Amino acid sequence: MTEFELIKRFFTRPTPGAKLGVGDDAALLRIAEGMELVVSTDMLVSGTHFLPDTDPFLLGRKTLAVNLSDLAAMGAQPRWATLALSLPQVDENWLQQFSEGFFALADEYGVELIGGDTTRGPLNLCVTILGEVPKRTAVRRSGALAGDDIWVSGKLGDAALGLAHLRGRIQLPEHARVSCLAALQQPQPRVALGLALRGIARSMIDISDGLLADLSHILESSNVAAEVRYDKLPVSSLFASNGDEMLELAQNCVLSGGDDYELCFTAPDTQRDEIAALSSRLHLPLTRIGKIVSGRGCKVRKADGNVMVLKESGYDHFA
Ligand code: ADP
Ligand code: MG
Repeated sequence: MTEFELIKRFFTRPTPGAKLGVGDDAALLRIAEGMELVVSTDMLVSGTHFLPDTDPFLLGRKTLAVNLSDLAAMGAQPRWATLALSLPQVDENWLQQFSEGFFALADEYGVELIGGDTTRGPLNLCVTILGEVPKRTAVRRSGALAGDDIWVSGKLGDAALGLAHLRGRIQLPEHARVSCLAALQQPQPRVALGLALRGIARSMIDISDGLLADLSHILESSNVAAEVRYDKLPVSSLFASNGDEMLELAQNCVLSGGDDYELCFTAPDTQRDEIAALSSRLHLPLTRIGKIVSGRGCKVRKADGNVMVLKESGYDHFA
């Protein structure tokens, strides 16, 4: 199979939302009046972001999901994507499943694949996602103000626990294994939440490298500090379980584990009712985990008020 047959067979679909999609030297897009273009790129490298034997359907899905999560964190409507692939060989079965996973999620969110690049090399998947937001309404990291509530969506730590299981660091019981591996391999990008938080959230980020690391980006961009309550963090019942070793691992997963793909945002306390209503409309837990204060840094307190001493921060590729 040639490179062009591969592109045609696995990655060419109708793109009614683009003036020109796959097949020319570049794609052509039209942005509606009054909208701004929002662009983000995320790369997944075999061995770094996923294990080489990961199910290709789920991998295709996740390759797009992590990018959708970035647009969600801006409050943007995703529209188009490009996909750059580096493949060690042409494995038709793998490509079939990978592209099915990719397009399954693309269809769910109305995203069109409008181009990309395909080369031979170590397995490497890179998506650039493009979306739209009405002018001046994108939610940035820099908008947090002292007094804001800090919120997170969904649950934290399950994906990191799933990874610890796959790496053989822990042995999860059957029911927990299923839910933690689903969190790791099938993250649900919070696009609807991101859109609904325009005009409500003052700052927002998606949690890909762990709560503390990602919240600290908000704090630095906004020049503020945070007080977070560990006992308020939304976690699955697993984390309540026993054993000191498990407790320490759980703490690392919740605060510093990666791959949650939940949204962390800040909003004035006058928005609490609005946010609660949003939570029930979207059937998505939204939890108030702390407050923005003036100063620098992030303090995490236990229920008894004591400040926790933390070893790990978040995932950093070069640290
Ligand atoms: P060029 O040589 O001009 O860079 P390519 O041969 O790389 O063009 O790509 C031909 C067309 O196929 C282009 O429209 C490109 O955007 C598209 N394309 C290449 N790889 C992919 C892919 N993995 N997914 C979607 N579109 C792709
Ligand atoms: Mg090319």
